[in-house]
Amino acid sequence: ETTTPSRLPNWSQDEENEAAGDRVNKAEQSLLNKLIRCSLVKNGNQVEVQQADPKSPLFSAKTFEELRLKPELLKGVFTMGFNRPSRIQENALPMMLAEPRQNLIAQSQSGTGKTAAFSLAMLSHVNPENNWTHVSKRSYTPFTLPLKTVSGVFMSACLCSVERGIKRQEQIVIGTPGTVLDWCTKYKLIDPKKITMFVLDEADVMIARQGHREQSIRIQRLLNKSCQMLLFSATFEDSVMTFAERVISQPNIIRLKRVEETLETIKQFYVLCRRKEDKFIALCDLYGCLTIAQAMIFCHTRKMAAWLASRLIEEGHQVSLLSGEMTVEQRAAVIERFRNGNEKVLVTTNVCSRGIDVEQVSLVVNFDLPVDMQGNADNETYLHRIGRTGRFGRRGFAVNMVDSDHSMDIIRQIEKHFDKKITKLDTSNLEEME
Ligand code: ADP
Repeated sequence: ETTTPSRLPNWSQDEENEAAGDRVNKAEQSLLNKLIRCSLVKNGNQVEVQQADPKSPLFSAKTFEELRLKPELLKGVFTMGFNRPSRIQENALPMMLAEPRQNLIAQSQSGTGKTAAFSLAMLSHVNPENNWTHVSKRSYTPFTLPLKTVSGVFMSACLCSVERGIKRQEQIVIGTPGTVLDWCTKYKLIDPKKITMFVLDEADVMIARQGHREQSIRIQRLLNKSCQMLLFSATFEDSVMTFAERVISQPNIIRLKRVEETLETIKQFYVLCRRKEDKFIALCDLYGCLTIAQAMIFCHTRKMAAWLASRLIEEGHQVSLLSGEMTVEQRAAVIERFRNGNEKVLVTTNVCSRGIDVEQVSLVVNFDLPVDMQGNADNETYLHRIGRTGRFGRRGFAVNMVDSDHSMDIIRQIEKHFDKKITKLDTSNLEEME
């Protein structure tokens, strides 16, 4: 039934490189996650805490009131719709607010409330009367702090480039390591000895760049011993930990295991096709199901995604396209529209296999199966595309388009890896999907 005899799919080297680029750009992915995230990721896992001083009592705050925040901050938190501290905040906030100041390394997946936590700590510590510049640092994402509504009253965060010779008076400074280092040393806009709190956010994204790692360490060496040091990361590989322990002395360490994605509630199918036209026809057959809720369709290359989107549009379907050549802002806008339900179908490349939690998506189509550079099944990407976290335990469907012996082989590998059956589906008879 299948025709392509080759072991590897015949994508060109350019297409391979481009697909790889779409897979690995951590910084953009992280920024995109931030832009599209509008609610907290619920994580019921236990927090692991390792205290710098194991004898000191461990305080976990179940309410914001317990934290004795300034009244305007407490009001701000409630105005933001935060009813109670998130899992990671329960432990991190008391540690960050304690006197004497304590250092902290905290890890939890993105969307669990780390940024809100350190923003609240910064706003609590800052003295609006001071008009020398305090520095905090946040890599890559120069976007508004979540607490801007309250902070705007008595301070402004300084986000952009400086005009030479103008002394900065803001209490919070946000920048990439290189810029902050320049402000401290080259332009002398900030006196590093006056910095009382230093935050390294997205450490996992940052350490991917040698330069950022070195610049962070150079800033750290300029700071007073008493400066409070905080480091946040969404992942906790050894390389992040080694870096973290190099920059943060005597840290408390908080870790929250990520909520694992699962295929438990997903019915998985494959459809045998011969070439891309067949896959398109099969997809159109499925379309009756697609329009019930929302669907995401994954393609291997930008070219294929663009072709498919235009074919679907020609058929009169409402489709949006997300792919690697778009700017981050354009991608965020597409996702936003999709999340709001403006389009029912999103055609995409690997740019968004992880991180887009669109609850309404009940059907995921792998128009091309996920493979690694060697052409083997990419199980991790498969899971990110179709898996659900506990939070969305709702049922869903995944349909895999098989167009060669090689792709049938991949289906077998995936079945074996997850130990879950992938059933053959005849798209001209869709009763099985009911
Ligand atoms: P992270 O830095 O871990 O990615 P954020 O601090 O950006 O997480 O929080 C993710 C989302 O959850 C944001 O939209 C934020 O406004 C919201 N959020 C943060 N803390 C709370 C809370 N305690 N209650 C409700 N929502 C929260």
